[in-house]
Amino acid sequence: MLPPLHVGEMGIFLSTTILNMELSPEVARYVVRYHWDLMTDREREAQRHLLSTIKATGRSDLEAQEDARKSLNRLEVAMRTVFWVADHAMTPSRFLSNDPSVLRLVVDGYESFELGTAARILQERGAEVRFNLCPRCGKLARTPTAKQCRHCATDWHGA
Ligand SMILES: [Zn+2]
Repeated sequence: MLPPLHVGEMGIFLSTTILNMELSPEVARYVVRYHWDLMTDREREAQRHLLSTIKATGRSDLEAQEDARKSLNRLEVAMRTVFWVADHAMTPSRFLSNDPSVLRLVVDGYESFELGTAARILQERGAEVRFNLCPRCGKLARTPTAKQCRHCATDWHGA
């Protein structure tokens, strides 16, 4: 468990502390959701691939990725037939990646991708992550702009 932090500590102290913190699914979700700017092009493509898969199938495992590819391909064929869509930019299957280096990032599904990507970001660019930590319990807030802690209910509006 994270020790309580003292309000007013330097930001660099916060970053170091969180870097030493165990990378939980909660921390990974925060980093990936709010730091698209720190993701590589490959990671962004992997994320789009997985989110499109989830949208199409409700899951993100490899089998779901294949199901999504099949159903988007079918949709694409239907669109071409009905609307004569020829523009690649308009085709649904472009949301899924064919790049082997991207597909390596997604083999274990979305949660695993999120953990791996967050670990990479924290290791290489951890100082740039804007963690919003509760001034009372030191835990991570839900969003970068939240002013109320979901763990201890402390409110720091106007702080
Ligand atoms: Zn708190």
